Amino acid sequence: MAENAWLNFHCETDKQTRIATFRLSGTTWELTEVAADPLPESGVVPGRIEMSGQFNTASGYAGCPGCGADNFVRCGGCGELNCWRRANTHHTCAKCGNHGKVQGSIQSLDAMEVA
Ligand SMILES: [Zn+2]
Ligand SMILES: [Zn+2]
Repeated sequence: MAENAWLNFHCETDKQTRIATFRLSGTTWELTEVAADPLPESGVVPGRIEMSGQFNTASGYAGCPGCGADNFVRCGGCGELNCWRRANTHHTCAKCGNHGKVQGSIQSLDAMEVA
C-alpha cells in the first residue's frame, strides 16, 4: 500500500501552484506540507493514481505557504486542490475560476504519483 502522494495545490491568494505532500495514516490521507516554492508555469504532471479514503490536514500542518490558510478544498470544477480557510463558506478556484460553497468531504483525489 502506498503511503505518500503528491498533488498540485493552488493558492487562492497568490495564484501560484505548489506541490502538496500527503501521507496515509490508517484510512486517512493527511496533508503534511505544501512546498514553499511555486511550480514553474510549464510544470508537468506525471501519471495519476487515485487516492481514496478520508482527507484531513496533519496535526503539524503549517498552512498554505502563499497565504497561511489552514485547510484545503477540492474544486468541484476541475478537481484540483486549493488552499482554504475554515472560516470561509465559499472558495474560488485559482486554477479554473469555479466559485462555490464549500460542502461535504473529499472522497477521492487523483494524485500525481505515489511512492
Ligand atoms: Zn493560499
Ligand atoms: Zn477548479
